[in-house]
Amino acid sequence: MELTELYQKISEYGEICDHCLGRMVAKRSFGLSNDQRGLGIRVSAALTLNIPFHPQQETCWICGDFFKTTDLWADRVIQAFRGIEGKTFVIGSKVPPLISESEEMVWSDLGLSDPEPLKSEINREVGKLVATKTGLAGDTKNPDLIALLHLHEERVEVQIRSLFLYGRYLKYERGIPQTHWACSKCKGTGCDACNGTGKQYLDSVEELIGRPLLPIFKAEKAILHGAGREDIDAIMVGSGRPFILEIMHPLTREADLKNLTEAINSVNKDRVEVIDLQWSQRSEVETLKNHKGHKKYRILVDIDGSIPETTLQSALEQLSGATIRQRTPTRVAHRRADKVRERGVLDIRYTGKEGNNFYLEVTGEAGLYIKELISGDQGRTTPSLTEVLKTPARVVQLDVIHVEGIDQVKSHGTS
Ligand SMILES: [Zn+2]
Ligand SMILES: [Zn+2]
Repeated sequence: MELTELYQKISEYGEICDHCLGRMVAKRSFGLSNDQRGLGIRVSAALTLNIPFHPQQETCWICGDFFKTTDLWADRVIQAFRGIEGKTFVIGSKVPPLISESEEMVWSDLGLSDPEPLKSEINREVGKLVATKTGLAGDTKNPDLIALLHLHEERVEVQIRSLFLYGRYLKYERGIPQTHWACSKCKGTGCDACNGTGKQYLDSVEELIGRPLLPIFKAEKAILHGAGREDIDAIMVGSGRPFILEIMHPLTREADLKNLTEAINSVNKDRVEVIDLQWSQRSEVETLKNHKGHKKYRILVDIDGSIPETTLQSALEQLSGATIRQRTPTRVAHRRADKVRERGVLDIRYTGKEGNNFYLEVTGEAGLYIKELISGDQGRTTPSLTEVLKTPARVVQLDVIHVEGIDQVKSHGTS
């Protein structure tokens, strides 16, 4: 459609501003702003048809003259960002449906192929002003701050990107769950059973690690994403369990990793310790959670009767490197589908005695049931230590000493 014809048809709908007029052909010609395009269309129509030039006289029927208020909106955004640390931002907007419908009606009536939606011009124009006034950089991919313009309500909502910290934790005290558990009686509202805390356990690894960081980042909440979890009653020693801590709604983003480590460890002596803290990002949470890493355990095993160490040694040699067939253990059968899984024992070795019990270290594929590897679970797991020794054996204590983290995943590639 010729521009002059387009101008005449669009004018039939009502008074329109240069921005909204120019946006109808927003992809024609580079290096122009939409209001320049709009003005150009008006001028060329006046010249071509030899009619009086007609500037916009009444309120634009599409945007209600939004673009006279871009400066005001930019100031609202800057006000909303006050007190929040961030280097990059993006603007988003909630445009009332009636406005979107108006412009979409024109697009379809006139069969326009290259219009730009109002929303995208608003975001860009307010964004340019905010960048100029503050020195913040626009970033649509991974901004620190998002300002959402609620046009109808004339307010700005700020969303702050979470911070992510990768590390490994060690747990020295039994009875601490990995994450916060709501009280089973009151579901978190607080009752007599939980002394009004709303929690089943007073502390969790998540809270012990997150709590000291909240004042540092002026944040609201921290969530722990773990690479698997140990039993509440197991300790986690050795090289620690990989985790990513998500710090939500942080008002500050800069911190020294050594100071953070110190802040966590100094208040959790003999309970929980973090090591290897590094900055991370949201995308690594999935990698961490999906990664099926090998785990290494230290277990204390009780074996009936008395067996010579050499007999134990040769039994362990048979199990080391073996593939174990495990039917879902009886202890979890009520929660999980009964099926047979095959998992490898990468290594199993004897490391010392305590009284009549034996310390073993086992490295297994993720998902290997260790207790059943020893007990045999009445023949449901095979081979097992019980089966090889022909003597009942059982785990009396189990601790995780190493879990592969995403640092190792990265070096393996696609393992
Ligand atoms: Zn307009
Ligand atoms: Zn309760």
